Parts: sequence; C-alpha cells; structure tokens
Amino acid sequence: MSAADAVLDPTEPVLPEAKMHVVMPNAPTGARVHSSRLCTKGKSAAFIRHVEIDVGGTPLEGSFRAGQSFGVVAAGTDANGKPHKVRLYSLASPSWGEDGFGRVIATTPKRVIAEREPQREGDDPEDHSLFLGVCSNWLCDRKAGDAIDVSGPNGKRFLLPTDPSKHDYVFLATGTGIAPFRGFLIELLVGPPAGSPAAATWKRCESRIELIMGSPYTTDLLYDDLLRDLAKKHPNFHYHPVVSREMRADGAGGLAKGEYVHHFIDRQLEKQSDMMDLLHSPRTLMYMCGLAGMQVGVFEMLARRNIGGFTKIGDELAGKPVAEWTSDDIKRRVRPTHRCMLEVY
Ligand SMILES: Cc1cc2nc3c(=O)[nH]c(=O)nc-3n(C[C@H](O)[C@H](O)[C@H](O)COP(=O)(O)OP(=O)(O)OC[C@H]3O[C@@H](n4cnc5c(N)ncnc54)[C@H](O)[C@@H]3O)c2cc1C
Repeated sequence: MSAADAVLDPTEPVLPEAKMHVVMPNAPTGARVHSSRLCTKGKSAAFIRHVEIDVGGTPLEGSFRAGQSFGVVAAGTDANGKPHKVRLYSLASPSWGEDGFGRVIATTPKRVIAEREPQREGDDPEDHSLFLGVCSNWLCDRKAGDAIDVSGPNGKRFLLPTDPSKHDYVFLATGTGIAPFRGFLIELLVGPPAGSPAAATWKRCESRIELIMGSPYTTDLLYDDLLRDLAKKHPNFHYHPVVSREMRADGAGGLAKGEYVHHFIDRQLEKQSDMMDLLHSPRTLMYMCGLAGMQVGVFEMLARRNIGGFTKIGDELAGKPVAEWTSDDIKRRVRPTHRCMLEVY
C-alpha cells in the first residue's frame, strides 16, 4: 500500500520499496561461495546448510532487503541439453548482508533427496531409484571459493515495514522457511556491525515478536542456538520450536502427541494466554514461510477462532461452517490481507 492509503488505515503496514530483478536469471551474474556449514541441530537425517555467497562487485551488491529471495542457476545442462532453470532461495541475511555492507548474502538450502516416485503419466511406477534435486544438491556441494551464478532480487511483499516499531509480529516458519526470519530477527534485534553504513541510524525494535518454528524432528530445528540466544537476550522476543513427529512434554509431567505450528497457537488460545491479545491487536502482522499448504491449518484456525484482520474469506464460504471447509476451499477462497505475508513453496 502507498503512504497515502496508510493514513486511511493505520493498521496496514507501509512497506519499503524493494529493488527487483536487478540481475535476470537468463543472464545471471558470477559470484563466489563465501562459506558453507550445516545448520541443523545435531545429527539429522536431513541435510540443510547455511551458505554464504559473496556478491561483492556485482550488480547485486547492496541490492537486497531481508525477506526477498534470489536465484541460483546450477552449472551444467538438463536432460535436454539446455542450461538448468533458475531456482529461488530465500535470503537468510538482514538487508545489510552478513558483512554489514551488502556484499555477502546467505541462504538455507535443503538437499532434496528421495526415492523416485511417478510425477506424471507414463512414469514407471516401479522405478524407486535415488532422486536428487538438481540445484539444492549442487548448491550444497559447493565449497568456499567456488563460482556460483546468481540472479535477483525477487519478491516485494515479504518485507518488514518501513517503521518496524509500529507493529508486533507473529512469525510462522516450517523447515527452511526459517531463512527470512533469521534475517528479520538480526535486523530487528541484533543490528548491523559497528562501522557499517546502517549502524548510524539503526534502532533495536522493542515490539513483541513471537516466532513459532515447526520441524518434523528436534534434530531438524534450524539456527536453533542463535534463536535460543536471541530469546535469552531480548525479553520482547519469544522462540517456540514445535516438533511434529516426536512426543512432547505436556507440561503435567507426561507426554503428548507432537503438533504443527497451528496446533501450538490453538493450544495457546485454549489457555486464554496473551496470544489472544496479540492476534486480536490491530498492530500485529503475521508472516508465514515454508512448506506449501502450511497456511491451510493456520487460516482454518483463525476462522474457527473468529480472529479477523489476517485473512479475507471468499463469499463462496460465507454460509459454510468452518468445520466443513476443505483444504481446497481454504487454498482457493481464503486470501491473506495486507497484514499477513505468505511465502510458501
Ligand atoms: C520464493 C522461494 C523461496 C525458496 N527458498 C528456499 C530456501 O530457502 N531453501 C530451500 O531449500 N528451498 C527453497 N525454495 C525451493 C527451491 O527453489 C527449490 O525448489 C528446491 O531447492 C528444489 O530444487 P532442486 O533443483 O534441488 O530440485 P529439482 O531438481 O527441481 O527437483 C524438484 C522437483 O522434482 C520433482 N520431484 C520431487 N520429488 C521427487 C521424487 N521423489 N521423485 C521424482 N520426482 C520428484 C518435483 O516435480 C519437484 O518439483 C524456495 C522456493 C521459492 C519459490
């Protein structure tokens, strides 16, 4: 929304202008891998890395805002002998990059590794050979100093507002969807390195920030040490890891079934906790990033709990009880408002 519209509705966020497509994917720019390390918690069956890329001296230097994504074009050619198509990866850095000068950007790629499954008609249902995603594995294989072709920036909606102190935040992540929130949290709470351009004007954000991070197993929690550390240092930030495939302590000394991000919120609302106040407050913005479909459970929960402001419900669903909504109804008929930023893939 524009600044003029914001005057009409002060609850809607004013987003900054973000540069887009400075480098196009059909003419990517040559950058170098700066570093690469695993960022899972302990020994995990998933391989997810924190990869830093030096874009210094390219048109991408200083071009990013936290929350945007960028393109990676894997070296080599596809089965048809054509260059590989670009894949997008979320920026895990604050707007000033890892270095404070916008030269080093980071992302959080997960290796796609699976047994082959039929994708389209004619695929052999008996073929269960190893399937390796092209770009995620290529990117995770790269070492410091290796060349890498990148493009971007991409995305202009999944951004922090111009004045972050005007809002409170609910951040919902699943898996590698944590990437933009790492950037946001460094930008809101940690600040730029001393001596970097942004350091002169940066102010710590005092708003309330709740991060709910969903992952299948505890070992798949990403940036967990950093997030715990931030929560320890900043009383306005709360970090809630939610694990779906393990039993969790139920608070009464027993074990309860694992849960998803929306179950966690639902359970907080059940307790009449201050989550209710946060979700009913017109200051609150909701950001969701991760697995396609994660919004379905969240949007259903918001509708069932009669929490408005984050979604627009299509007329087709007006007379239908929420309990009867299908996933397809929600995907097609429930849309995020300006106070809800959605990035799912
Ligand atoms: C805005 C945005 C941000 C993103 N950010 C991130 C991020 O931060 N981190 C991250 O890891 N990813 C991210 N992604 C996803 C990323 O772009 C790639 O899609 C992902 O890394 C897989 O690419 P790949 O080349 O490895 O896999 P591909 O070679 O493209 O293979 C994946 C495709 O293969 C098919 N396939 C999948 N499983 C099987 C199977 N078992 N058998 C046969 N075929 C199969 C499917 O058609 C699937 O689409 C993001 C996507 C978007 C749109």
